[in-house]
Amino acid sequence: MNDKCISFNLDNNAFRGRIVRLDNVLQDIFSHWVYPDNIASAVAETTALGVLLASLMKFDGLFTLQMQGNGPLSLLVTDVTSDGKVRSCAKYDAEAIKKAQELRKTEGVIEPTPHWLGQGNLIFTIDQGPKTELYQGVVDLQGKNLAECALRYFKNSEQIDTHLQLFVQKNENGNWQAGGILIQKMPTAGGVDAADAEDMAEVWNEDKILLDSLKQEEIFDADLSLEDILFRLFHEHNVRVVKNSAYLFGCRCNREKLLNTLSSMKQEDIDDMLENGKITATCNFCGQIYSFEKSELLKH
Ligand SMILES: [Zn+2]
Repeated sequence: MNDKCISFNLDNNAFRGRIVRLDNVLQDIFSHWVYPDNIASAVAETTALGVLLASLMKFDGLFTLQMQGNGPLSLLVTDVTSDGKVRSCAKYDAEAIKKAQELRKTEGVIEPTPHWLGQGNLIFTIDQGPKTELYQGVVDLQGKNLAECALRYFKNSEQIDTHLQLFVQKNENGNWQAGGILIQKMPTAGGVDAADAEDMAEVWNEDKILLDSLKQEEIFDADLSLEDILFRLFHEHNVRVVKNSAYLFGCRCNREKLLNTLSSMKQEDIDDMLENGKITATCNFCGQIYSFEKSELLKH
C-alpha cells in the first residue's frame, strides 16, 4: 500500500477532513530501529497523527509532533517536512515496561499510547527556517487514547470542532500499519442564522457518526483505496477530494549538524563520551552511526 494522506471537504465545504494510511514509512522506520511491540505501536500511531496534523497546517519547512511524559515511554517524536518526508523515534525504558506488565499480568498486550507516557505534554512545532517565528501548540496529555489527547488540543487551544479516529495494527506479515481520519468544522465567515446553525449541527453529528463507523479492517484493506473509503462513508455528504499527498521515510541527520551539536557541549561531557579518543553517536531516527575524532571537535 502507498503512504498517502487525502484532504477532502464535506457538505459543500462546510467541513474539511483528512484521511491517512501509512505502511512503507513505518516499515522503513522499524528497519532502522527495532522497538518492542508496545513502543512500535505508539511510534506507528504517533506517525499517523503527525502526518494528519501536518497536513492541516500551511507551512514551508518542518512540522514536529512531540510527546514527553514521566512514564516508561519518555519521548515520542515524529517530524514531517512540507515535501512529505517523515521520520519518528521513541525513548523508553524497556525494563520498566516489562516490569509494569508483569505486575499487571498484561504481558504481550498492546496498551494505549498515553498509558506509557504517564503525565506530560503533547507539543507541536512548525519551523519555517531562520528569520521566521516558531509556531508552537501545547496541551497536557489527557485522554484514554492518543486521539482523545489530540482532540483536547483542538478543543482547548484552537476551539475548532474536530472529530478524529486513529488506527494501528501489526498485520499478518508482522508489519505495522497506522491510519487515521479527521473531520473539522471550517471557520465560518460572517453570521449564520439560527435555523441554518441547527441544520448544520445535525449534519455535523451525522458526519461524526459516519466517521466513527469506519472499522480497522476497512482502513487497512489493501483492496480499498482511501478514495473508496471516503466514498463509502460520506457519499451522501457530497464528499470531494481536494488533495492527495504522498509520504516517504526520510532522515535529515548529517555529520556537520551533529558535529555542531557535539562541539557546543561542555568539555567534561565530551570527555565522558570519549572512547579510545573517539566519540560515536547514533541517529535516533535512522540509526546512522557517526564517529568523530576528539581533535575534530576541538577544531570546530
Ligand atoms: Zn538520521
